[in-house]
Amino acid sequence: MRLETLAIHAGGESDRETGALTPPIHLATTFKHGPAGERIAGYEYQRESNPTNERLRAAIAALEGGEAALTFASGMAAVTTLLESLPSGARLLLPDDCYSGVRMLATEFLPERGIAVQRLDMADLAAVRSACAGGVDLIWAETPSNPLMKVTDIAALAALAHEHGALLVCDNTFASPVLQQPLALGADIVMHSTTKYFGGHSDVLGGALAFKHDDEFCKRIAHRLHITGAVLAPFSAWLTLRGCRSLPARMAMHCANARKVAEFLAAQPQVERVNYPGLPSHPGHELAARQMRDFGGMLSVQFRGGRETALAVAGKLRLFTNATSLGGCESLVEHRGSTEGPHTTTPQNLLRISVGLEHADDLIADLAQALREA
Ligand code: PLP
Repeated sequence: MRLETLAIHAGGESDRETGALTPPIHLATTFKHGPAGERIAGYEYQRESNPTNERLRAAIAALEGGEAALTFASGMAAVTTLLESLPSGARLLLPDDCYSGVRMLATEFLPERGIAVQRLDMADLAAVRSACAGGVDLIWAETPSNPLMKVTDIAALAALAHEHGALLVCDNTFASPVLQQPLALGADIVMHSTTKYFGGHSDVLGGALAFKHDDEFCKRIAHRLHITGAVLAPFSAWLTLRGCRSLPARMAMHCANARKVAEFLAAQPQVERVNYPGLPSHPGHELAARQMRDFGGMLSVQFRGGRETALAVAGKLRLFTNATSLGGCESLVEHRGSTEGPHTTTPQNLLRISVGLEHADDLIADLAQALREA
């Protein structure tokens, strides 16, 4: 079955009791069982499992082509539960450019648990190979990356990881399974902040992991989730499942709009560079064209006038809202250097843009007036 069809139907069987086409939201925290804890319909307690969450998990596993998926209270809960399932003494390779929360978790908290973290440019495969030679348990990839939009070769990283007995995990938040399927390219686990494109409407926080194999490591993470408790609430699971239905259609429009916005920005004299893998000038363009179906709705732009110009443009925009996050219907702009705080590694002349579903001409008109006024 093709992805567009899966997105509509996966986890979407009509309700057995009522025939309702829209899945019910099961809010029950506890489920009736027999005197010795015998389960009646497979459920016991919401923290362990819940029918609405199970539907979403089935949908995400199907969309990513995995044997299993788990859902979490947020993207960071998914990342934390996964990385804290590594044994003490494990070695993690992390991209130099990735979501700042993952970077902070890896540099502030994981070393306390005896997990060693090395950051490097994942596009430099020779550097990754020599880092692997020092021993590696897990390679983290994020492609395209947040916020520099670096593209890394998932198949090559998977080969390197497996050669050294390590796992490859790919944060697929920016691309979504519609545009990129890391498991098919060799990754072992895919991570999502479902807060973004899956939810799609800036109104539901969540995270997910999709696993190529329903193996021991997957079960260890499921057990840790059950015990540590960062589970996705049923209403959030329901909203996210609803988001799945329109994900392919929304992604198509995000991509079409982002391409037009990127091309417009690249032609402006105030602009030093546009980081968008869909532009032929992007160093990862050919690789992205190979491993992605389209180039996504995210981009970042760097200004010749430095931080002042970036902030002035952000301040003059009317249709784009200054806000963090991404993947919603509305276009957002963000000075990442400011939101990431004092330890940011993001260039100060950079604005990150989440291109929404408005008409591209209106978005371009807003950018044009902001560039004139700034
Ligand atoms: N990964 C990426 C690429 C993100 O952009 C984010 C959030 O912005 C996360 C992970 C963390 O997800 P959440 O905010 O749902 O915890």
